[in-house]
Amino acid sequence: MKVLTPLELEETFRSWDAGYDLRVPIRLPDGTRAWGKIDEGPLALRGGPILAKPTAFFFPQSETELEYEETGKLRLPSPPSRPFLLVGLTAQDAESIAFVDEFFRANFQDDLYFRRREGAVIVVVWGRCGQNGELLRRAKQGCDLELVWDGERLLLIPRSERGWELYLAVRGGKEEEASPSLEEMEKEAACLMAADEELLRRSSALLLEDRIPDQFWEEVSKSCIACTACNLLCPTCTCFEVYDWKEENKVERRRLWDSCQLEGFAREASGHNPLGTEASRTRRRIHHKLGADAARWGRITCFLCGRCDVVCPTGLGIKALSREMVRRYGP
Ligand code: SF4
Ligand code: SF4
Repeated sequence: MKVLTPLELEETFRSWDAGYDLRVPIRLPDGTRAWGKIDEGPLALRGGPILAKPTAFFFPQSETELEYEETGKLRLPSPPSRPFLLVGLTAQDAESIAFVDEFFRANFQDDLYFRRREGAVIVVVWGRCGQNGELLRRAKQGCDLELVWDGERLLLIPRSERGWELYLAVRGGKEEEASPSLEEMEKEAACLMAADEELLRRSSALLLEDRIPDQFWEEVSKSCIACTACNLLCPTCTCFEVYDWKEENKVERRRLWDSCQLEGFAREASGHNPLGTEASRTRRRIHHKLGADAARWGRITCFLCGRCDVVCPTGLGIKALSREMVRRYGP
């Protein structure tokens, strides 16, 4: 690992910026954080999850799948000129991306996703750098390089072949074999999510055993205002719709993120809507990650990034609903 000063880190980012489409966490004028280019604002590495969908770099909200010209020519989108290098993801974000990779590779590979994802590098930030200095845990997968704040020093640790390539090109910094502070933080962080993971396991079991009555969903969903923020920020939400857009000399086939909290999400051409009530849509959003995906993939596909609980204006995030399910119907 390398120990870097803040200045060495910034120089490292600038050198990476030459070969990659680099995005780093920056501070916006209103005090919040966002992913931006290195000169778009002051670096803001500390603070935990950024309130934006981390998978959006590979699966943007709206994109053109193909263009069909009047002349009969079919045009496919060209790959990006430089691969992405994303700095500032949390462990949960990196693990979500690893799942979305698997999702978009299963059965039929989604080339639109992989033309951006292939060659991309993920740098996870962890250590004592969450909001108000709390500990962020280490990623189990999906991470190429780690940037760690141990409370006093910035450490850079390669985790994959791509990570090593970037690491070896870093100028400056002090090489160290190991750091006792890292081990301490890892041990401490191992217990961090245990209670929340157990909560999801218990609510998942209740859903799989069909122990949550419809009445529960009818009651809780009354407050949903269908703003769709829960879906639009969730790193593992992958639903999109496809439509054709006619221009003067061509037709563009586009895709656009969809939200299962919207009334038209599952409406069929006949008019029949299997998710015609807010209650069935709210149940579907939660059941998908904790029930259906648990059955399909053998694991829950909420990685507890925390965004839906933070952004839902009416308290219908996955943790809040899981807590309520376990409180009312748990053993
Ligand atoms: S906490 Fe919410 S937003 Fe984050 S992965 Fe789970 S369901 Fe998605
Ligand atoms: S964020 Fe909350 S209010 Fe908005 S659509 Fe999702 S559940 Fe409904």
